[in-house]
Amino acid sequence: MTDSNDKNKEVKQKLHDKAEEMHEKLVERKTVHMEPVIDRKYHLRETSKAKEIIEKAMDVAKDEIPKGAVATYIPELGKVEPHQLGICLYPLSGDKICIGDYDVRFTMQSVSKVLMLIVALEVCGLKNVFRKVGMEPSGEAFDSLVELDVNDSKPYNPLINSGALAVCGLLLPEVSFQDMLRYTRNVCSDQFIDLNEAVFDSEMKTCSRNRSIAYLLESKGIITTDVEDTLRFYTKMCSMDVTAESLANLGKKLANDGVCSIDGKRYMSSRTARIVKTLMLTCGMYDGSGSFAIKVGIPTKSGVGGGLLSVSDKRAGIGVFGPALDAQGNSIAGCKLLREISNELRLNLFYDPEWNKEDAGDTVLKEMQDNSVM
Ligand code: GLN
Repeated sequence: MTDSNDKNKEVKQKLHDKAEEMHEKLVERKTVHMEPVIDRKYHLRETSKAKEIIEKAMDVAKDEIPKGAVATYIPELGKVEPHQLGICLYPLSGDKICIGDYDVRFTMQSVSKVLMLIVALEVCGLKNVFRKVGMEPSGEAFDSLVELDVNDSKPYNPLINSGALAVCGLLLPEVSFQDMLRYTRNVCSDQFIDLNEAVFDSEMKTCSRNRSIAYLLESKGIITTDVEDTLRFYTKMCSMDVTAESLANLGKKLANDGVCSIDGKRYMSSRTARIVKTLMLTCGMYDGSGSFAIKVGIPTKSGVGGGLLSVSDKRAGIGVFGPALDAQGNSIAGCKLLREISNELRLNLFYDPEWNKEDAGDTVLKEMQDNSVM
């Protein structure tokens, strides 16, 4: 009896010592590496330093272009020169930084889903929007139909094709395409945004997949408007010609909770801005959303035209253009570019001062790459 009691005591003591040792290690790590509270706007205020960081990142990102390809399922997009790359970063306080092909026009494609959602939330209200679409990531391709073949289901979220088509069904009785164009020009601070007729015609001729989605949505009672009109409205929204700079202007207003920091005008409620940014983080990159959040950590919405709209909350709006796409339909060089600058410019939502250090982030990142996680 006494013997086994002693043994128990001994085991307990060992476990206790082990826990203490572990605790000390963790605490030591924390105290050794913790930095004082960091002003995350600091890097953006130093424009020349930030510009230097972005220019370096552009060179790294350009190497990715040959690994991607322009979208060809919309024939007109297949004509775009794949080697273009441009970025505009517009800090809330500080000068706009524009590099490369930041002023080249390209079609918004799925980036326009952000605008559809903003206007739907503002005009139709939160309840009506989320009665038609969910707010969960899909883990499926952007033009997937799988969730629609299940009884009582609705599109996973408003940032994939099915969800955006459902949102268009809500918008159609309330606003015209001209209203949407006017709003887009204003919120992007770019009066030259227009409908690219060639891309619109090209997509209308080849959109049988979206047409199927729209008719399935009608069969489920989610779209109650004319299906062909809804499809045209959606495709027109996708065919608006923007630049990386116009996307940065939009991103900056989202970063500032819907208000333009220059003239103080409100373009959407702060609630709308918050919902949109959250969905951009969780669903904005389709089935690449989770790994993008780990690698980059900036709410972003992509489009097959090569555009990326990013919002570094309370810090900056970012627009990127790089038409060569990865397997998920996201700009391959654009994603790399954002990944390169996110930590260095402290734009990551979960900025971690250790991430780039030899003994922490890089090692983890390298291990993940070696195991083809990234
Ligand atoms: N217009 C495109 C489509 O509906 C938009 C897709 C995208 O940008 N991912 O297929």
